[in-house]
Amino acid sequence: MTVTRTLLVAAGCLGIGAAVIALGRPVEERPAAEVLTAGPRVSSRWRTTVDTLRKGEALSVALQRAGVSPLEAADALRAASAIDSRRIRAGTQITARVEPDSGTSEIIFQLAIDRIVRLTRSNVGTSDWTEKEELLPWSTDTVVVGGVVTSTLTGAIAAGADAFPERVRTELAYALADILEYRVDLSRDLQKGDSVRVLVERQVAPNGMVRPGNIIAARLTVDGRSVETMRFAQGTRASYYDGEGKSMRAAFLRAPLAFRRISSVFGLRRHPILGVTRAHQGTDYAAAAGTPVRALGDGRVIFAGWKGGYGRVIEIRHTNGYVTRYGHLKGFASGIKAGTSVAISRTIGFVGATGLATAPHLHFEVLVGGKHRDPRVALRNVTGEPLAAAQRAEFVALKARLFAQLDAGQPTLAMRGEGVRGTGD
Ligand SMILES: [Zn+2]
Repeated sequence: MTVTRTLLVAAGCLGIGAAVIALGRPVEERPAAEVLTAGPRVSSRWRTTVDTLRKGEALSVALQRAGVSPLEAADALRAASAIDSRRIRAGTQITARVEPDSGTSEIIFQLAIDRIVRLTRSNVGTSDWTEKEELLPWSTDTVVVGGVVTSTLTGAIAAGADAFPERVRTELAYALADILEYRVDLSRDLQKGDSVRVLVERQVAPNGMVRPGNIIAARLTVDGRSVETMRFAQGTRASYYDGEGKSMRAAFLRAPLAFRRISSVFGLRRHPILGVTRAHQGTDYAAAAGTPVRALGDGRVIFAGWKGGYGRVIEIRHTNGYVTRYGHLKGFASGIKAGTSVAISRTIGFVGATGLATAPHLHFEVLVGGKHRDPRVALRNVTGEPLAAAQRAEFVALKARLFAQLDAGQPTLAMRGEGVRGTGD
């Protein structure tokens, strides 16, 4: 797309312009009458062309199309250390200002949403160009998003929301799942009617593009039980804590598959082949073949091999008599064999359909003291380390403030960009 604008510059009008800027009003608001008054004193006319570099196109060609002469382009690019004319991406926006008598006076390359390189000719008619790299500021506010789960977490976050585009809402759901993964098995525990509310930073780029910043606080209500989480900084490091001030990180994950790796495949829908969960001692996770399987906690591999109906299976012994078992694997991650020490969340193998399995899925078991246990029950009370006593007061005060904000923010209003502003820390 090529946009050409012809602008009038009025000599003698600059003083007024400066005053307007000082008052903080955009220059465009200058009344038309002023321009008319200044009309006769027009000293020059320039043309600003905004264009984008096409795929496979030489930079010089794009510059020429914008009205920059080959000599000017060569001079300007010589001064541009930040521009590699062979590596510059197709789609890069180029803005050129060309004066009718003296030629090109300025070329701007938009290298990223928030980064431009401005090449300015120092003196009219010379080959002296200067380069200036500028970072354009993102603005940040906070919004409350959320809703009631009807089919997926992403859907709940999306419910009635337009604070973020769809792709961003999905990313937000995944980010929330990452924070909650030691407390909730979002792929299985979430049911119709559960609800979620998230207080999140929204960053707006100079061009209006929106991306989510940090999740500041969230409340997920699963089966009538609330899980609260909030971001809390200690010194320069921030991490997530639950409502009681215990770290969200714990000794065990709640699920051996990362939510972001499976929700996109099946969401909350029933697995098309597995259908109703069969009565057996374990939990089946439907997932695409090859999906990474994670160690539920720190431990040592006690078995990695073939075992009857389990097919390829891994067993890990953890502390306190816990053993976890992962069946029907397609294969093991490199280095995984009996005796290997594994850290929580490490990829140990990949989802498959070996043994007695009609479709790719992970068969997962938790045993405590040699007996099968429902992971949801066995892991219910596994929580993280509490904050040090010295931090309690600060935590409690911040929690009161953030959750008041979370509860007060009307999701639908916030989504129209009227969210409560600024939490600072
Ligand atoms: Zn199974």
